[in-house]
Amino acid sequence: MNVEKIMSDLEKKHPGEVEYLQAVREVIETIEDVYNENPQFEANGIIERLIEPDRILTFKVPWTDDEGKVHVNLGYRVQFNGAIGPYKGGLRFHPSVNLSILKFLGFEQIFKNSLTTLPMGGGKGGSDFNPKGKSDREIMRFCQSFMMELWKLIGPETDVPAGDIGVGGKEIGYMFGMYKKLAREHSGVLTGKGRNWGGSLIRPEATGFGNVYFAKEMLATKGETFEGKTVVISGFGNVAWGAALKVTELGGKVVAISGPDGYVYDKDGISGKKIDYMLQLRATNEDIVKPYSYEFGAEFHQGKRPWEVKCDVALPCATQNELGKEDALTLVKNGCICVSEGANMPCTPEAVEVFLENKVLFGPGKAANAGGVATSGLEMSQNSMKLSWTRDEVDEKLHRIMCDIHEACVKYGKDDTGFVNYVKGANIAGFLKVADAMVEQGVI
Ligand code: NDP
Repeated sequence: MNVEKIMSDLEKKHPGEVEYLQAVREVIETIEDVYNENPQFEANGIIERLIEPDRILTFKVPWTDDEGKVHVNLGYRVQFNGAIGPYKGGLRFHPSVNLSILKFLGFEQIFKNSLTTLPMGGGKGGSDFNPKGKSDREIMRFCQSFMMELWKLIGPETDVPAGDIGVGGKEIGYMFGMYKKLAREHSGVLTGKGRNWGGSLIRPEATGFGNVYFAKEMLATKGETFEGKTVVISGFGNVAWGAALKVTELGGKVVAISGPDGYVYDKDGISGKKIDYMLQLRATNEDIVKPYSYEFGAEFHQGKRPWEVKCDVALPCATQNELGKEDALTLVKNGCICVSEGANMPCTPEAVEVFLENKVLFGPGKAANAGGVATSGLEMSQNSMKLSWTRDEVDEKLHRIMCDIHEACVKYGKDDTGFVNYVKGANIAGFLKVADAMVEQGVI
C-alpha cells in the first residue's frame, strides 16, 4: 500500500471532504505495515474497497413548522461497510452535518463496531436539521418526514441506525413510530428505543460509562485508578453526562463541563443533584452551562475551552476537532496523564501527536467510545431474542466488552518499550477482522 498515492487519489475524487480525508489518512497510516505484511489484502483490493462507502442515500426532508411555514432540509444515510454484520451507526441532526462529516463518522464506525466483538458493519446518517429551539410537534413532523425516505433502506437485518448529536430517545421514538407504520413491523430496526418498546437499560449512559471503563483500564496499566482524580469533561450531552456519573461513582471528581459558548468550573465537583439539574434543562432543549453557573455559584468562562483547567484526566465528549495542539500542550503542562475520547475525533491529529510524544495514556474514540454502539448491539440481541436483560446484566456485559477492546488495543499497540499506542492498536485490531471477512467473501 502506498499511503500518499491512495490519499492523493482520494483527494482528487472527493475534494474538500476534509473530515473524511483526515479520518482515512489516520487509519491507513497506522495499518500500513500490517497491510503490507499480508499480500492477500493487496490482491483483493481491500483498502480501495474499504475507503469508499458501499452506498449513500441523499434525500430532501420537507416539513412544516408551527406557523405553517414549509422548510426543506437534507437527509443522508451512508452505508459504509457491511462485511461483518448489518450496517450500524447513529443519525446526527445538526446544522453542521454534511457528507464529509457523515463519511468520516461512517468510516470510523467500521473499526469501532469491529472492535466491540459484536457482528455489526459500519454506517452513519443524519440531517442538517437543527432540533434546538424547535417544538415537540415540529421535531415529530421532521422525524416522520425523514423516515418516509429512510425506511426503504433500513431493516433489522440490513441497517440499524441509532442516535447521535441531536438525536436522543424522543427523536428515535418519532422515527420508530413512522417506520413501524410504513413497514408494518415492530422490530429492532433502530436502537436507543424507549424502555417499554424494545429499548435496553443503560443505553443512554452507555457511551459515557464505556469511556470511563476504558480510561479505567488505561489507568490500571500505570497502577492508577479514578479514586481522587480531577476530571475535566467537554459537552454536556448523552456522552458527557454518563461519563460524569461513572467518574463520580469510581471516586473521581468532575470539575468542568462545557457547551459551545464556554465552560463552567466547579471546584466542589459536578455530581448528584447538579447532574440531575442539567438533565432537566437538557430535556427542555435549554442552555445548560451558563444557568448551571448561576444556580450553583460556579465560574463560567465565556468562549473558552475547558482544557485550561488543571486535571489528571480529560474526557472530550462534545464534538469533532474540539481539542487542538495548544490545548494538548496545556493539558500536558498541567500534568494530565490520561485523555479518553468520548466524542468522535474530538482531538486534532496535532493534539494526538502531542499526547503520544508525551506518553500520555490516550484512548481514541473508536475504542474509547465504542460502549455506545456495543450496548446498541446488546439491544439488538435482546430484540432478536425477545427478552430484556437487567441493568446489572447489561452493565456487566458493557464492562466486559470495554475490557476486551482495551486488551485488543494493547495486543496490537504495545511497542518494545512497553508503551501502548492505542490509536495504532485500535486501528489494527478493528481493521484485521473486517479485512479478513472481506477477503473471505470475495470481491463484491
Ligand atoms: P449531544 O448532542 O447529546 O451532546 C453534545 C454536547 O456537546 C452538547 O452538550 C453540546 O452543547 C455540546 N457541544 C456541541 N458543540 C460544542 C462545541 N463546539 N464545544 C463544546 N461543546 C459543544 O451528543 P452526544 O453526547 O450524543 O455526542 C457527543 C459526541 O459523542 C459526538 O461526537 C458523537 O458522535 C459521539 N458519540 C456519541 C455516541 C452516543 O451514544 N450518543 C456514541 C459514540 C460517539 P449544546 O447542546 O448546547 O449544543
